[in-house]
Amino acid sequence: MNPFTYVRAANSDEAIATLTREPQAMFIAGGTNILDLMKEGVHTPSQLVDIRKLPSTEIVTKDDGGIRIGATARNSDVAYNSIVQERYPVLSEAILAGASAQLRNMATVGGNLMQRTRCSYFHDTAFACNKRQPGSGCAALEGFNRMHAVLGTSEHCIAAHPSDMCVALVALDAVVQTHGPRGERSIPITDFHLLPGETPHLETVLEHGEIITAVDLPEIPLNRRSHYLKIRDRASYAFALVSAAVVLEIDEEVIRNARIALGGVGTKPWRSLEAEEVLVGAPATQETFTAAANAAMQEARPYRHNEFKIELAKRTIKEALKTVAAISGGQA
Ligand code: SF4
Repeated sequence: MNPFTYVRAANSDEAIATLTREPQAMFIAGGTNILDLMKEGVHTPSQLVDIRKLPSTEIVTKDDGGIRIGATARNSDVAYNSIVQERYPVLSEAILAGASAQLRNMATVGGNLMQRTRCSYFHDTAFACNKRQPGSGCAALEGFNRMHAVLGTSEHCIAAHPSDMCVALVALDAVVQTHGPRGERSIPITDFHLLPGETPHLETVLEHGEIITAVDLPEIPLNRRSHYLKIRDRASYAFALVSAAVVLEIDEEVIRNARIALGGVGTKPWRSLEAEEVLVGAPATQETFTAAANAAMQEARPYRHNEFKIELAKRTIKEALKTVAAISGGQA
């Protein structure tokens, strides 16, 4: 590991100023991702600025009825929070489907939003990787790309986004709150992560020195009827081959509202507006669910080892829809 210095920031302004002065400095909170990347030589910060004590760890109800989750809330505390379990079950289920109990006890909400891809070529500095070293190439394009994305890819990067939590946040229309060198801002979760395009090293819209302070979830009754289904190679501590976060409102067996987000298949947590368009206004039947699943994967582009993900994603979406329809009073 390269030498680096470590400081604990007394407040947000000090943390932001430190990173603004130091282009190679990085924030650290739970440390479950960044420390691995430092050991691998992928991250070589000149300084680590500890922000664990800065943003709130609390989960509070807002005046508008929604909730605000502090950015340093531990993943496990969010998953087992009674309000989250009752009003946003898809978020609790998604977090508990990710990582291990030990990691969930350390990982923070802000860190989960910022976690980097598990593409094995990104983690191995012997291979070409545009995300790690812009312009060097992408070893995954012709390599073993079974775990890689089929939606949102580019000729420069096909890495899948690794988070389960973020998929649920997309289905819940979350808003990320930040504080940075240019003040505070609110970023809809669907705008937070970037597609790789020609710049796969840029993964979020955050500026250097910008801190995630909280995540807001709106109070929408429909969010209570939600479910996260994750398909993986083993029952725990494995990244998604495919996952689906589904939120549905069904009235008199007609789908009135729907939000569909996918994991394991996209280069960012993937919202499927195409599937939602098929669902809204249609009867809650297997035929509708099949049409929605087909629409969701219509633009998918497989690579040598991951074509299976397209059919697997369709089946996962249909199964998740069926489960939520059952709890929403639909017929399917
Ligand atoms: Fe790097 Fe992306 Fe290619 Fe993986 S898929 S090697 S992260 S450029």
